[in-house]
Amino acid sequence: MPNALYDALFAPHQGSSKPFLYLPDNTALSYDAFLKLTAQIAHVLQEQDVKPGDRVAAQVKKSAEALALYAACIQAGAIFLPLNTAYTPNEVEYFVGNAEPRLVVCDRASHEALLPIAEKAGARLLTLNGDGTGTLTDEAARQPDRFVTISRTGDDLAAFLYTSGTTGRSKGAMLTQDNLLSNAQSLVEAWRFTADDVLLHALPIFHTHGLFVACNVILLAGGSMIFLPSFKTDEVISWLPKATSMMGVPTFYTRLLDDPRFTRELASHMRLFTSGSAPLLAETHNAFEERTGHRILERYGMTETNMTTSNPYDGERRAGTVGFALPNVEIRVVDPETCKTVPDGEIGVLEVRGPNVFKGYWQMPEKTKEEFREDGFFITGDVVAIDKDGYVQIVGRAKDLIISGGFNIYPKEVELLLDEQEGVLESAVIGLPHPDFGEGVVGVVVPRNGSTINEEKLLAGIHDKIARFKQPKRIFTVDELPRNTMGKVQKKILRDRFADIFQTK
Ligand code: AMP
Repeated sequence: MPNALYDALFAPHQGSSKPFLYLPDNTALSYDAFLKLTAQIAHVLQEQDVKPGDRVAAQVKKSAEALALYAACIQAGAIFLPLNTAYTPNEVEYFVGNAEPRLVVCDRASHEALLPIAEKAGARLLTLNGDGTGTLTDEAARQPDRFVTISRTGDDLAAFLYTSGTTGRSKGAMLTQDNLLSNAQSLVEAWRFTADDVLLHALPIFHTHGLFVACNVILLAGGSMIFLPSFKTDEVISWLPKATSMMGVPTFYTRLLDDPRFTRELASHMRLFTSGSAPLLAETHNAFEERTGHRILERYGMTETNMTTSNPYDGERRAGTVGFALPNVEIRVVDPETCKTVPDGEIGVLEVRGPNVFKGYWQMPEKTKEEFREDGFFITGDVVAIDKDGYVQIVGRAKDLIISGGFNIYPKEVELLLDEQEGVLESAVIGLPHPDFGEGVVGVVVPRNGSTINEEKLLAGIHDKIARFKQPKRIFTVDELPRNTMGKVQKKILRDRFADIFQTK
């Protein structure tokens, strides 16, 4: 039965003994073994009463089995909903309550905390640990290794990814089979991926970059991946000789450049390095070229749009830009005040239309409507300019979203939490240039009358309330927050005032 995404990414590899994943313990998993595991997990999903169109939420560590769970959802027609492993049970409760999955899969360590949350939402709960053990794989081992693929149309949903959003709560971006497939096809072509590629994969797989950009591209091309649990410089350096290509966030590249073992010789055989999810400083781009002779190919996208622009494979990869719109993707730069396209070269908000653009936010028709124009263009909220040669330059973010280590942080969420703490009158959370993370989260607080703020105590107070990557690295106290005449906090003034606090390492 037709299921375009499964048929393109997975089915062609049936029976292939070619290695799909090279794993950190020096073993390799063949395509055939991966697809058998996928089929077994798809049977477990059916057994757990997961029907086509049902959601399967997964807060699991990166592993071959976790990737097979994604594949199994596609094969069984379920909607895969990966969750950042750093989310606290408190946060997971919101996602599970909102998405109402039929099944939740989590690490053994969080089973106890998530059980009441899953039960409350009427979902079943299975475990999958970072080493591939757990009740999910125990059940799978008893299942047949063939599964009759469930039929799906291109317009059916394949995944939900919760965005950190910039206004209000996290939203579930609904991604269709066509969204994912069309983007994978464009990228394979644009970046010349083939079955000979071995991609060094050190990104998380709960995010669009590591899951869709990296895995879908390799699956479609029939290549292999070195599948590392996270980015560790030592590990990456030791695996690099076996790779042909690597996809990274800017932090990966600054870390490699910080290590004298990362030499021209070590990188000489590589075909391609790509970067995205956060701005790659022109300085990093240039230092990388000087060290290795390679020009990093920077591209741009977001959860809602998949990849939108890319620097060219052939032709100039221009530092500080994210290149041109991908084939079949339309972009325009709009003045948010007048809603009109700006003259060439001027700054405005980027809008996108094409098969890559998501279907809307789960159960938020109003929000979806607000972020789309009548003619189908999606308003990204990214402020850009297009230079005279057509290269898109990301100038900033319309709404003060912070990106630290490639993860998005919505300042409001952290501010609300700081404001609840003893002695705090109000707060502003900003991102400041950080040599390792791109941006580091900083809290600026105003004490209540007569209170004194102790930085350490304040940080300890929020420690277990939000994911670590969202927690401020520093807290500063000020007498009052700078505000404009409309009463809005002027974060730019704060950012300028504290600009270089992370610059002296
Ligand atoms: P996410 O939805 O987590 O992928 O985050 C999307 C946001 O990351 C975009 O709206 C941009 O603000 C930012 N982003 C992604 N790629 C780049 C890039 N190459 N340069 C600058 N910002 C980027």
